[in-house]
Amino acid sequence: MEQTVQQAVDIKQLLTKRPLIISGPCSAETEEQVMQTAIRLAATGKVDIMRAGIWKPRTRPGSFEGVGTKGLPWLQQARKTTGLPVAVEVATGKQVEDALHFGVDVLWIGARTTVNPFSVQDVADALKGVDVPVLIKNPINPDLELWIGAVERVAKAGIQNIGLIHRGFSSYGNTEYRNAPMWHLAIEMKRRNPGMLMINDPSHICGRRDILSAVAQKAIDLDFDGLIIESHIDPDNAWSDAKQQITPERLAEMLNGIKWRREDINSEELHAQMEKMRSQINHLDDELMQLLGQRMKVAEQIGQYKKDNNITILQTNRWNEILERAFVKGEQLGLGKEFITKYFDAVHMESINHQNKIMNS
Ligand code: PEP
Ligand code: MN
Repeated sequence: MEQTVQQAVDIKQLLTKRPLIISGPCSAETEEQVMQTAIRLAATGKVDIMRAGIWKPRTRPGSFEGVGTKGLPWLQQARKTTGLPVAVEVATGKQVEDALHFGVDVLWIGARTTVNPFSVQDVADALKGVDVPVLIKNPINPDLELWIGAVERVAKAGIQNIGLIHRGFSSYGNTEYRNAPMWHLAIEMKRRNPGMLMINDPSHICGRRDILSAVAQKAIDLDFDGLIIESHIDPDNAWSDAKQQITPERLAEMLNGIKWRREDINSEELHAQMEKMRSQINHLDDELMQLLGQRMKVAEQIGQYKKDNNITILQTNRWNEILERAFVKGEQLGLGKEFITKYFDAVHMESINHQNKIMNS
């Protein structure tokens, strides 16, 4: 009993390390593979926790669905040999019990589980009265409420150490990423849960090796607390997610190549510069708001005019003309077409609302 408490304290301390690096195979496959991965990960000196999937919730049946409970003693052994704490994905209450029975240090809830409140509740019920850190991946679909709901269920079970993993979101027809990062959702989740550990999972966002480091760098630039990256002793022959895994040595190289901006920001000089630029941004934002306010006033005048003369609000030609003008101007100013479209859509909607109010008053 005392042993368990001691371990819990250490792991809590470890989870405050920045950047926090978790790595290991998508799936535990054999005893040998687990041990060799652990040894090579530990040898890099860059990994804080080893991950391994024991139960694999695959999208389609017939794929490798994990070795199951028999893999847990392998992890226990690897942990004993290397000193690396271990993390495992759990999707049911029974899996929570099994993992804890074999001394797993950190549990995580996978994206396919976070989408289902019944499953999350089942996991949460098994966590009652247990002191173990739980990391919660974002749900597969871009729904912040589901992600928050999972956090609430786990918190209600009494778990104090909750962290978040951003692994991207499924989007039909998307080709560049396996799961679209939709960074704005992760940023909003961070904003709503200040102080909660938030790490990024480039492996499941990318689904391929060549863009892993770019995504990892972006996460660090966005002030994520760490990374969870899949690694395998023989990536090409991995039993699951072969395309996205890298060797422990390649992982170390990749981590060496990342610019850890957090450290840079400590110096006073940099801080002062940042403050100066931030105040410029605030100033410009204020001006933009003023201008938008004025723009809406003009839109209201037009609304009044249309009302007096019985003209419809939306005139498609005029709208196309505004957009075309904006694309040309935007290009000169270095503003992307996608941004221009979104921005003008939003401004246009607001304009219509203002005009509507006038015309129907
Ligand atoms: C995994 O981490 O191997 C996994 C199954 O990820 P996700 O839940 O993000 O799909
Ligand atoms: Mn995987």
